[in-house]
Amino acid sequence: MTVIVSGAGIGGLTVALTCHQLGIPVKVFEAVPKISPLGVGINLQPHAVRELFELGLADQLDAIAVRTREVAYFSKHGLPIWTEDRGKWAGYHWPQYSVHRGELQMMLLNAVTARLGPDCVETGSIVMGFESTDNGVVVSVAQAGSTRQFKGRVLIAADGIHSNIRAGFHPNEGPPVWGGAVLWRGTTRAKAFLSGTSMAMAGHRDLKFVTYPISQPDENGLSLINWIADIKLDKITHWNHNIYNRKGELADFLPKFESWNFDWLDIPDLIRNADAIYEFPMIDRDPLARWTVDNVTLLGDAAHAMYPIGSNGASQAIIDARVLGKYFKSLGINGAALQAYDDERRPICNAVVLANRGDGPDHILQVVEERCQGRFDKIEDILSPKEMAKMAADYKKIAGFDVKTLNNAPDILGANDDSNT
Ligand SMILES: Cc1cc2nc3c(=O)[nH]c(=O)nc-3n(C[C@H](O)[C@H](O)[C@H](O)COP(=O)(O)OP(=O)(O)OC[C@H]3O[C@@H](n4cnc5c(N)ncnc54)[C@H](O)[C@@H]3O)c2cc1C
Repeated sequence: MTVIVSGAGIGGLTVALTCHQLGIPVKVFEAVPKISPLGVGINLQPHAVRELFELGLADQLDAIAVRTREVAYFSKHGLPIWTEDRGKWAGYHWPQYSVHRGELQMMLLNAVTARLGPDCVETGSIVMGFESTDNGVVVSVAQAGSTRQFKGRVLIAADGIHSNIRAGFHPNEGPPVWGGAVLWRGTTRAKAFLSGTSMAMAGHRDLKFVTYPISQPDENGLSLINWIADIKLDKITHWNHNIYNRKGELADFLPKFESWNFDWLDIPDLIRNADAIYEFPMIDRDPLARWTVDNVTLLGDAAHAMYPIGSNGASQAIIDARVLGKYFKSLGINGAALQAYDDERRPICNAVVLANRGDGPDHILQVVEERCQGRFDKIEDILSPKEMAKMAADYKKIAGFDVKTLNNAPDILGANDDSNT
């Protein structure tokens, strides 16, 4: 095999599909014995959607996801601050999608299996490490109690925030960095609010609620609504701050949102009716000075785990995979291609990691909180429309999805210019 990938998450599977599109042999090793649709909602921004469309996945995305119409910001009292159109409504040639992370992963996995065959992804296979050779890598994989060696030309470590390849490159780094906040994430079957496909954010840096539908309405008019209750707990030192997806408890966060029954959404009611609640610490990783060593590189969360603010983790992993493909195409399957990918992507992703530590586009909520504690008669007295538009536009530029730039740029692999649907 030529390209070996560690991890069948969003990033690793997109690498596999990109290699297939380029006619490059690829093998993916995934640690879990069986891939199941874990997680809750995420968003895919238009720059990443464009690339999934380039991979021929437009219909599959429409089948599992919701085209996000707008993002609306509210103060902690439910007062409207700022609304901006998203996706095609905002003039992009591609939509923005809200989608269940696990369903997106399964959709990508099904596409990999259909195009590359059932043996492309091997589950129950933990990539333990690698050795560089003159013209490639030998990757050690633990499978069913024994360790096997696989030869490849390059190794792509798409093994997530706890990447052991990254740990090998940076042995003194330690665990992810916890910013003091905890997110309780859940899904509830309920009637969609506002436009019906809106993403809403209410509150401020220390106490925030984010919510959006991730399914079309069923026959009873109910959608699966994803929500995130985000509480800054910096005085509590013994909280779980390393593991995603732990079961969450209502008593730990519902009291803080008990009074958030607004005319556009009854938030406590939404929380109480959840199917399931998970706890996610708000963790990320410090930006790195290099992702690539010889014929091995990091990709997705392994390279640039970021706070889930600004809806960018999965989108940036998809863009990584496509930029890597671009350099495979122009430079061949070798360390030079990996280094070119690293040189292009690392500064951009590092800037997004840092922007997200500063609240990313949600900074607007904090400004309103600081200026008037979330109470106002007219928002223009607190924050000018120009200031609001600038905050939103600045983040899009950093994260690479400014509308004009994206619409005018060729697709990353330079394959097509008619992928918009
Ligand atoms: C179970 C799970 C649930 C998540 N839920 C959410 C969510 O609800 N909302 C959200 O915003 N983000 C969530 N994330 C994170 C989100 O998927 C990523 O931020 C983003 O999609 C980037 O994807 P990635 O492919 O880089 O990493 P990930 O999606 O984390 O995928 C990494 C993959 O590598 C595998 N892996 C790890 N170590 C090894 C190894 N040594 N050998 C082989 N395979 C390995 C993991 O099992 C995983 O499948 C979740 C991640 C996971 C793993």
